[in-house]
Amino acid sequence: MVLAKSFVCVKCGKNHKPEEKLVHCKKCGGPLDIVYDYKKIKNTIVKESFLRERIWHWKYWMFYPIIDISNKVTLMEGGTPLLKSRYFSDRNKEVWFKFEGMNPTGSFKDRGTTVEVSKAVELGMKEVCCASTGNMGASVAAYCARAGIKCKIFLPKDVVVSELKIKQIKTYGAEIVKIKGEYSQTAKECESYARKSGSYLMGDYQYRGEGQKSVGFEIADQMNWKVPDYVICPMGNGTLIYAVWDSFNDLKKVGLIEKLPKMIGIQAEGCSPIVDTFKKGKKKVEPIDNPKTIATAIECGDPLDGQKALKALKDSNGLADKVNDKEILKTLKLLANKEGLYVEPSGAVSLTGLLKLNKIKGTIVCVLTGHGLKDPF
Ligand SMILES: *Cc1c(COP(=O)(O)O)cnc(C)c1O
Repeated sequence: MVLAKSFVCVKCGKNHKPEEKLVHCKKCGGPLDIVYDYKKIKNTIVKESFLRERIWHWKYWMFYPIIDISNKVTLMEGGTPLLKSRYFSDRNKEVWFKFEGMNPTGSFKDRGTTVEVSKAVELGMKEVCCASTGNMGASVAAYCARAGIKCKIFLPKDVVVSELKIKQIKTYGAEIVKIKGEYSQTAKECESYARKSGSYLMGDYQYRGEGQKSVGFEIADQMNWKVPDYVICPMGNGTLIYAVWDSFNDLKKVGLIEKLPKMIGIQAEGCSPIVDTFKKGKKKVEPIDNPKTIATAIECGDPLDGQKALKALKDSNGLADKVNDKEILKTLKLLANKEGLYVEPSGAVSLTGLLKLNKIKGTIVCVLTGHGLKDPF
C-alpha cells in the first residue's frame, strides 16, 4: 500500500508520484524529499491492531518512503530498550536511556540503513557506496549483504576508525576504500564516485533521516504516548537529532501525541560546528578544519545535516552544548559502572551533556547511540 503522497524535488519543487520509482528529480536531477499524506496515515493507524503491535522499527512503516514494504530488507532492527536511570535520576529529573547499541550492527544507524537498502532494492540498484567513520559503514555493509547488493565503504585516513568496526565491515563482505583527509572530504569523494559510476549513494541524505525517525517513534510508544520534556542526542552530521524531532512532529500530526519535546544537541569540544552556530545565534553552520575527538562517530567537521539540526534545535526551543573527551570517558565509565550499560564514546555524549546542563528538570531521554564492544575503552 502506498501511503506516501509524493516525492518532491528539493531544488525545483517538482512533484512525482511514488509509482514512478525515481532516484532523482525527472526535471532537474535534484534530490527528492517525501511528502506524507497524514490524513491517510491517521485513518490507518488509529486502529487497535497498531497500538497492540510490538515495538520495533517497521511498526511505523507508514512514515517511511518505501512504496512496497513487502520488499523490505530487515535484520529486525529497533525495539531497543528504554531504561529508567537509577543512578542519574533525582528529585528534579527522571532520566531515561534509549540504548541503541542493541541494534543488529551495534548502533542506531541500522534504522536508517534498513530504509535506505529497502529503497535501493525497490529501485533495482546493483551497487551502493557510502562514506563513514565506521558505524554507518558496518550497518550499510550488513544490510547490503542481506540484500545481495555489492557495497563499497569509503573511510577517511585522518580519522582513527576503530579496528573492530573495520573488521566488521570487511566480514560482511564490503569493499573498503580509504580516502585522504577527514570525514567531510571522504563524503565528497564518495558523492563524486556515485555521480560518475551510477552506484547508489547512501549516508546522511534524504531517506536515511526518514528511517532514523523510529528512535523517536519508539520513545513515544514506550512511554505510552506521553512525550518526555527533553530528548538529548549527540550530533555528528546532525541527522539523528533532526530525525527524532521530525518523528515527534509526525506523531502529533496524526494525533498520537499532544505535545512536543525540546531537543538538546551535544557535540565534542574538538568538533562543535553546530553547537557554536547555535550559541552565537548565527544562521549558517560553518565547517571547521581539523576536527579531533575520541568520539569518532561524531567527528564531522562539515555536518551534512547541520542546517536541519540547527532548525530542530531552534524550532523545539531546545539547547546545545559541548563536552570534552575526558568528560565523555568519565561518563562512559559511569554508565557501565552504575547502570550496566556499555557504550562507545559517542554513545556517552548525550548523558555527558546532561550532566553539564545540570539545571534541567523533568523527564529526559538520553539516546545512547552505539555499543561499547565496537570501540572499547
Ligand atoms: C552516527 C553516530 C552518531 C551521530 O549521528 P548523526 O546522525 O551523524 O548526528 C552518534 N553516535 C554514534 C554511535 C553514531 O554511530
